[in-house]
Amino acid sequence: MPRQKLVAGNWKMNTTLAEAKTLAGAVVAGVGTDDRVAVAVCPPFPWLLPVADVLKGSPVALGAQNVSAEKKGAFTGEVSPAMLLECGCRYVIIGHSERRHILGESDAAINHKVHSALDEGLHVILCIGETLTERERNLTERIVQRQVLAACTGLTDHHWARLTLAYEPVWAIGTGKVATPDQAQEAHAAIRATLRHFRGSAIADALPILYGGSVTADNAAGLLHLPDVDGVLVGGASLKADSFLGIVQAAKK
Ligand code: PEP
Repeated sequence: MPRQKLVAGNWKMNTTLAEAKTLAGAVVAGVGTDDRVAVAVCPPFPWLLPVADVLKGSPVALGAQNVSAEKKGAFTGEVSPAMLLECGCRYVIIGHSERRHILGESDAAINHKVHSALDEGLHVILCIGETLTERERNLTERIVQRQVLAACTGLTDHHWARLTLAYEPVWAIGTGKVATPDQAQEAHAAIRATLRHFRGSAIADALPILYGGSVTADNAAGLLHLPDVDGVLVGGASLKADSFLGIVQAAKK
């Protein structure tokens, strides 16, 4: 079965409430009823419920940018998978490089979160990717392999059906330096080959792998037609409805 393309917008810690509602409304209007490409927006936590209201009845899905590995209890400041579901989230981003590198999330912590979110019924967008130094030392393949295998330790076939990977080279995030189509295809193919080796062809062939890192409406088409690129995770360009919708349009071709 062909893998459906996903275009997901990571708004990070941006937008006022009014801006979030306006942006979500413009995305809903632009997408209309066309569900050929799956589209999701991931606003900051406090805007999840109001944005869910705006998305109601449209094919645009809601996602969160992070989640706790814990179910409930004394974890001040944390948000559980069940809470995200109750807010209307379908997706949650886990292991974003900003959380790995700025907030110190380890592979083990990410694995715990992936399990908790999938157990609860969320769809997980799991981010992986090498730093510039790692790429320059030719370690890209080894790093992404380690990250995927560590984050996915212990997953069952049932879990894999709700998992999406996002290959996001750290040097391309928010820098305007997008990976070339060759670099993206090479990394995606290596990730799929790793999964084929360790988890078998059924999982490897069905798993969507998104590219993320300075994707814009101008460069999206060149990435989205690659055989192992199944969509994109978009940061900066998801904050403007026109550019985000331009990327959605590119994914339809
Ligand atoms: C991201 O943060 O996931 C991302 C891809 O950001 P940007 O598109 O701004 O590089």
